[in-house]
Amino acid sequence: MRPQLLSLLVAAACASLGAQAAGVTDAMIANDAATTGDVLSAGLGTQGQRYSPLKSINSGNANRLVPVWSMSFGGEKQRGQESQPLIHDGRMFVTASYSRIFAIDSKTGAKLWKYEHRLPDGILPCCDVVNRGAALYDNLVIFGTLDAQLVALDQKTGDVVWKEKIDDFAAGYSYTAAPLIAGGLLMTGVSGGEFGIVGRVDARDPKTGKMVWSRPTVEGHMGSKYDAAGNRSDNGVSGKVNATWPGDMWKAGGAATWLGGTYDPKTGLAYFGTGNPGPWNSHLRKGDNLYSCSTVAIDIKTGQIAWSYQNTPNDGWDFDGVNEFVTFDMDGQRVGGKADRNGFFYVNDAKTGKLISATPFVKKLTWATGIDLKTGRPNYVPENRPGDPTAGADGKKGNTVFAAPSFLGGKNQMPMAYSPDTKLFYVPANEWGMDIWNEPVTYKKGAAYLGAGFTIKTVNDDYIGALRAIDPKTGKIVWEAKNNAPLWGGVLTTGGNLVFWGTPEGYLQAADAKTGKIVWKFQTGSGVVAPPVTWQEGGEQYVAVVSGWGGAVPLWGGDVAKKVNYLEQGGSVWVFKLANFGNSASAGGADKKLAATAK
Ligand code: CA
Ligand code: CA
Repeated sequence: MRPQLLSLLVAAACASLGAQAAGVTDAMIANDAATTGDVLSAGLGTQGQRYSPLKSINSGNANRLVPVWSMSFGGEKQRGQESQPLIHDGRMFVTASYSRIFAIDSKTGAKLWKYEHRLPDGILPCCDVVNRGAALYDNLVIFGTLDAQLVALDQKTGDVVWKEKIDDFAAGYSYTAAPLIAGGLLMTGVSGGEFGIVGRVDARDPKTGKMVWSRPTVEGHMGSKYDAAGNRSDNGVSGKVNATWPGDMWKAGGAATWLGGTYDPKTGLAYFGTGNPGPWNSHLRKGDNLYSCSTVAIDIKTGQIAWSYQNTPNDGWDFDGVNEFVTFDMDGQRVGGKADRNGFFYVNDAKTGKLISATPFVKKLTWATGIDLKTGRPNYVPENRPGDPTAGADGKKGNTVFAAPSFLGGKNQMPMAYSPDTKLFYVPANEWGMDIWNEPVTYKKGAAYLGAGFTIKTVNDDYIGALRAIDPKTGKIVWEAKNNAPLWGGVLTTGGNLVFWGTPEGYLQAADAKTGKIVWKFQTGSGVVAPPVTWQEGGEQYVAVVSGWGGAVPLWGGDVAKKVNYLEQGGSVWVFKLANFGNSASAGGADKKLAATAK
């Protein structure tokens, strides 16, 4: 070998070692959607499109997908597994129920390390002991816990590097979303909207966990900023005290930011959805109750609200507006799509929040007849709002109404995907309703703060779930794939003209992105309530998904929970790739045979 070439090779090797030692950088996170060798963030990029340009696996060959490995989360504590895996530097990082996280060799499935967070007695997760994933930064992997802490671990060893408290779990705070890292900040929300907590978005230094700013999402609360020494100062009130809330109700106003957020580098804004105002009984809090059931866009440099758009003013149905705001280009305009729990698919300008369109993505919808595009407000059906208990004879129970969607939503925590190829959104939707009524309630720390009772009902005999391809320009449903049980897992779409999603019945499946024709499915052994990912390693494309039935449906699903009570729990991660039979003639025969069997 010529000395010149050798020195070049040595230099290249050193550069690559140097890059590894530097760990995950802001630039790598900013490019995550385009880099196919890793998955560094929830949403496969901070915009949350869940689109990979990879096309080695495509609608023509996906029927050759076979498992490469599977790993069990083990333990007696299985429950719902809603986590999206991350992939970096030959490792998979995946969280599991009860605030656990695993590092796994991404090629072999061998466990590298496990961290089990020690949870205290008295935690108050509303909707199962789930976790939706971690975030990567530098040499750290960071995730939130059910007792409302953030834990940062060394990616290689699993050793705890820093640990910070988000808030008081005894007051109902918890954390289940994947943290968002963008612009050098680690951003998290809070869970606990059923306990009268106060929603907010916190920004921290990801390397130390130290606070940078905090922005409340209930109107009337003061924002905070912190200097390098950790000293707090006021950073302006969110909105104006009592502008949209009566009396002291804003002090336990909810608006939990429990599903985390997305970030668009083109606008410099982080988009966090907010949950129900507290309590559920809307008659106790006349007014719009900002910034509940909204998309809140925050300038990450200042921690100030740049704009907000309220999907359900004065919510009376627990229509948490936490659903992800996914930005994309439409006719040269930067916009964001959101499939709201209330059953409408919204498109807003990503810079200003101006409403562009709002169309139903569910077929049964009772609470509004539409959204007025001029005012941005719903046209309510007043008689379909659950009644005021104080109007009744005994003052204990208001009129019961049937409402659709149910509070579990036209869409819930399971993230949708957007394909820049087909220009369609792929929305995991559900058709269901509920009987709902209001009751009196007062705030008590750590107690459920609802003032409502409910029973979830089916509305169709043959299906509840439906994966729907939606054209954001028209709001039209281009195709749908119905599912017997409610869909509760997220979606992935790829440059291979594929859409991947899981079902509670246990299947991970793939459909032609243009037509919805299902081209492959695989039984994972328990219900899938988590979003799949894909990446490329050693020249081959892989697909991974977590399996493990649970989440809110079995706990709160009423008649639907009974209908699907045959589903078994689990806890494992599966990885797939195309079957490789080599190039020989006989292998080609085997290939054809398998393809024929798959039909
Ligand atoms: Ca990537
Ligand atoms: Ca809620």
